[in-house]
Amino acid sequence: MIVDYHMHLRNGREEIAHDTWSVEPFVDAARAAGVDEIGFTEHGYYFTQLRTLWSEPYQTERCVYDLEPYVDAVVQARERGLPVKLGLEVDYVPGREDETRALLAPYPWDYLLGSVHFIDGLAVDGEPRLVDEVGVERAWGRYFEALARAARSGLFDSLSHPDLVKIFGDRAEAFDYSEIADEVAAAGVAVEVSTAGLRKPVGELYPHPDLLAACRERGVPVTTGSDAHSPDVVGRDFDRARELLRSAGYETVTVFERRQRRQEPLG
Ligand SMILES: [Zn+2]
Ligand SMILES: [Zn+2]
Repeated sequence: MIVDYHMHLRNGREEIAHDTWSVEPFVDAARAAGVDEIGFTEHGYYFTQLRTLWSEPYQTERCVYDLEPYVDAVVQARERGLPVKLGLEVDYVPGREDETRALLAPYPWDYLLGSVHFIDGLAVDGEPRLVDEVGVERAWGRYFEALARAARSGLFDSLSHPDLVKIFGDRAEAFDYSEIADEVAAAGVAVEVSTAGLRKPVGELYPHPDLLAACRERGVPVTTGSDAHSPDVVGRDFDRARELLRSAGYETVTVFERRQRRQEPLG
């Protein structure tokens, strides 16, 4: 089984297109790429229903869309028997766990991805850059601290691009992944192997092989994702993702259905 569980429902120009017609090009692209099932995971900060969670200008500027059409588009495709799942990529907001849970509760999610894109007004993968403002060592420390908290929150089924902090190619020296792997394992959350990093300055998959191996040792389940913002990116570089998973010792991938998970043989 091959799943691509991280993509954004857009038209071919990466513009928001939360409608039923936009689902099919992703399904067709998945089929062509040999992907068995896809999951849509639009950013939570686009949706007005979640508006009270967002404080970063990057988020609030984009928070102008209704969540219902997005949910309906994916659910209708799911009900028509297309191999699609309903997800959301949710920025973890420390201290707002109960509110996040309550705001997300009304919708029929298959799974929720937890992401750390911002830390105290600084961006992990944008401007102003966390790594520039606090230095690489502290940026890594703070990023993984936030990720551990996101894991422990119990809000999420899987953690997106787990070592996103390396995106620009800066890395902390001799970083020890055992602590974050312990936290993730204790929290019972899955981690995503993402091919998006191959298209970023760092030019690597997320996560680092050492982090994935540490997760494997502790029995942490995995998903795979491309983070596509257009259909042509669905399933991209998944041979590389599979190779990384196999070398870490993984033989199964996680499939989510209405927030229940099961393991399927890795395709
Ligand atoms: Zn992300
Ligand atoms: Zn994403």
